Amino acid sequence: MSKVILLRIGEIFLKGKNKSYFDSVLINNIKRQLTGINYKFLKSQNRYYIEDYSEFEQDEIVDRLQKVFGLHSLSIATKVATSLDNIRDNILEYAPNPGQTFRVSCTRADKTFPVKSFELAGKMGGYILSKVDNLKVDLHNPEVDVNVDIRERGYTYIFSNKIPGAMGMPVGVSGKGMLLLSGGFDSPVAGWRMARRGMSISAIHFHSYPHTSLQAKQKVIDLAQVMTKYCQDIRLYVVPFTQIQEAIHEKCREDFMITIMRRIMIMIAERIANKDGCGALITGESLAQVASQTVQSITSTNEAVELLPVFRPLIGMDKYEIIDTAEKIGTAKLSELPYPDCCTVFLPEYPVIKPKLETSISEQAKIENVEELINWAIENTEIIDLKSEYEK
Ligand code: ATP
Ligand code: MG
Repeated sequence: MSKVILLRIGEIFLKGKNKSYFDSVLINNIKRQLTGINYKFLKSQNRYYIEDYSEFEQDEIVDRLQKVFGLHSLSIATKVATSLDNIRDNILEYAPNPGQTFRVSCTRADKTFPVKSFELAGKMGGYILSKVDNLKVDLHNPEVDVNVDIRERGYTYIFSNKIPGAMGMPVGVSGKGMLLLSGGFDSPVAGWRMARRGMSISAIHFHSYPHTSLQAKQKVIDLAQVMTKYCQDIRLYVVPFTQIQEAIHEKCREDFMITIMRRIMIMIAERIANKDGCGALITGESLAQVASQTVQSITSTNEAVELLPVFRPLIGMDKYEIIDTAEKIGTAKLSELPYPDCCTVFLPEYPVIKPKLETSISEQAKIENVEELINWAIENTEIIDLKSEYEK
């Protein structure tokens, strides 16, 4: 008898012909996530098993695996050599508490085991009822579903609790996206959501030192490092934006400052994305959240992009939902830190809410040397390679 962790795959289950590719990426991601831990990996049909690990590391393993996209759910199970006695001797550990409703579900892949599934379920249900007081069987909607899974090769798995997985698609199957990462709540969540659809993530941050502090930059590095728990390695580009921001401040209409800033940011992001092999840009914009996130503002920003699609996974999300997710994934406590970023220095008192596209373009044209400034910023961009938190 030993404890194992049973992993169920999510959506890639639907992948038909390409399934083996998705499977191999997922397995590779699982193994990377468990770097430094001793265990044995087993694959059988649509399930994987983590076996032969130290019980002291079980919580750590589960915590790491819950961050792997592509896994639907996990269960801690007891693995026994298949026999009626072994099943009975181990099943009480998974029995409900007095007063709960339950059922026993059996599956029998090994047809040489002489007891049929429904018969075994009845026997084990009866056994549990005889040992625990005040239980009620509920076959349709039980509080506890005790599972007995009789597999080929002489082993049976017993479990009841299902721990939710991160769902989505394995990181890497959807290419790479360039995340515009600020220090706020939104952009880390946006990156996390695209990683959940299988994108590897690179990130780009614009900073305006000395108008913004080194702490603001460090905060973004720390945020990206937290994201590596889900996204594996992240290359972070830190773009010196001070000169551009000063030029905008000096030359353009004050109420258009944010609009022009966004346009130039996204232009730089696209150029670096192309060099980095990214197929898309990702932002944390959410409709109507602030003046720069109205339909007209987004139109003005979007026009500055040449070709790449801009993914805005939060566009229809509520701020409360976004913060909930940030808390769940562990970025909220960093995002909360109060260091101003470049969107808050030189901030106009009344930014334009519905910028006209033509005005955005003509205001930007007032910075005659914009190409030169952009090239300088790209040439002086700092690259910070963040290793996956679990492979450092
Ligand atoms: P966040 O919570 O991500 O900071 P926000 O609600 O503050 O977003 P804005 O400041 O309008 O919204 O920024 C919208 C998006 O533009 C951000 O989600 C991010 O993708 C990008 N962005 C803004 N500032 C920066 C920056 N300094 N560096 C990189 N990207 C940025
Ligand atoms: Mg922000």
